[in-house]
Amino acid sequence: MKNSLSRKFTLAMVVLAVGLILVFALLSQLALDWNFERYLDQVQKQQNRLILETLAELYSESTSWQSIRLATLYVGSTSGAQIRVFDADGNLIVDSLRGMMQGKHGRHWQSVQELRGDTYSYPLLYGQTRVGSVEITHLGQEGLWTTEARLFQQAVQQSALITGLLAALAAVVLASFLAHRLTGQLQLLTEAAEKWGSGQIEARVEVDGDDELAVLGTTMNRMAAKIAEQNALRRKLTGDISHELRTPLTTIQSYLEAFRDGILSPDEENLTAVLEETGRLGSLVQDLQELANADFQKRLVELKPLALNELLQAEVERLRPLLQRKELTIHLELPAQTIYAQADEELLARVLNNLVSNAYKYTPAGGTVTVSLGQQAAEIVVAVQDSGIGIAAEHLPYLFERFYRVDPSRTRATGGSGIGLAIVRELVEAMGGRVDVTSQPGKGSCFYVYLPRP
Ligand code: ADP
Repeated sequence: MKNSLSRKFTLAMVVLAVGLILVFALLSQLALDWNFERYLDQVQKQQNRLILETLAELYSESTSWQSIRLATLYVGSTSGAQIRVFDADGNLIVDSLRGMMQGKHGRHWQSVQELRGDTYSYPLLYGQTRVGSVEITHLGQEGLWTTEARLFQQAVQQSALITGLLAALAAVVLASFLAHRLTGQLQLLTEAAEKWGSGQIEARVEVDGDDELAVLGTTMNRMAAKIAEQNALRRKLTGDISHELRTPLTTIQSYLEAFRDGILSPDEENLTAVLEETGRLGSLVQDLQELANADFQKRLVELKPLALNELLQAEVERLRPLLQRKELTIHLELPAQTIYAQADEELLARVLNNLVSNAYKYTPAGGTVTVSLGQQAAEIVVAVQDSGIGIAAEHLPYLFERFYRVDPSRTRATGGSGIGLAIVRELVEAMGGRVDVTSQPGKGSCFYVYLPRP
């Protein structure tokens, strides 16, 4: 993959560079030719004007063609031009080329006269009167292009060609360097992804620089870390569940073995003990079911502004009979105005149910449970306070973790498996909120649910 991508990239860069160089060369060639021709034209016209002025001056001095004849021959051979002078009637007075070919350099003019530039025709003036005309044709050139101009043009073309080739070479080197760098980083990403695919989730991408590929590398690393964390969590959960299942199972097994071996008699007391353990297993399975449901519901969370006053009122009324069974008093403290929170009605009801059930479990008969509602700058807060056994400070940080129980032996009697508060936290966080707790052993606990305002 690396090679083909690198080759494609290099090829694309080279094609682009060569294409641009060609276009640039063509345009600059056209511009050079056009400007240079304009320059040659100006030079030629300048020279023609000088010739014409010289001839006009000579004519005005003597008003005879004699001096013009001599001067034309002289000027023609020095300027390399065929100069023909005609009188006002169009009769040829002098043609410099004839004289030039008979002179010392006759052979030279013979050879160059084949190549001739454009012919320019001018009137010959004496004051304001037209006394004749002059035709000038430069020899040894094609149009405006003299041999020297052609040589100059070729030299420019050659240097442009060399520059173009050097630029193309530089483009190849630069493109392959860039392609190598780019695909090198991609290769690192691919290698890491392949390692993850083969189960080496602890492998990481070496991130270098801060470009898009580096950002992708960092994101992939973060994703791998998340997967590793999830894996660890799953392993812990499986371990915790099997541990939770093993304890009651072992107890049941020991009772049954004792009955079989005649060590214990299956009387009412022993059978009740076995029954309690099976009940514990049952409630554990139920808790696990609830955990799975919480995971499922989290995905279906439907947030909308909820009027909390009514919702709390209804929930408290629903739970009142349960609390009364244990002679617990439940209070509801609501503010006068209706308070809205951005939440999911069903999830919030489950959260309240779990918190009030805990207050019920961990508050001795005759105690009180208070549900209250308030609002802060950015959040709504629902608090469930009890006058129960409380929790020692060292347990508070772990309370919302799965399977965490303050006193496993005591809570075992209540049937708790340490899942309720974990569910509470997950559901609240799914609604974009957070949870907190304060507690004093022997005096009671207060659980807080903070929810975002609509
Ligand atoms: P459980 O099913 O064991 O109650 P939770 O996750 O609901 O599991 O609670 C975790 C632990 O926190 C409990 O085992 C208990 O020790 C403690 N706890 C929870 N709520 C209260 C409360 N209102 N008062 C005192 N302790 C509590």
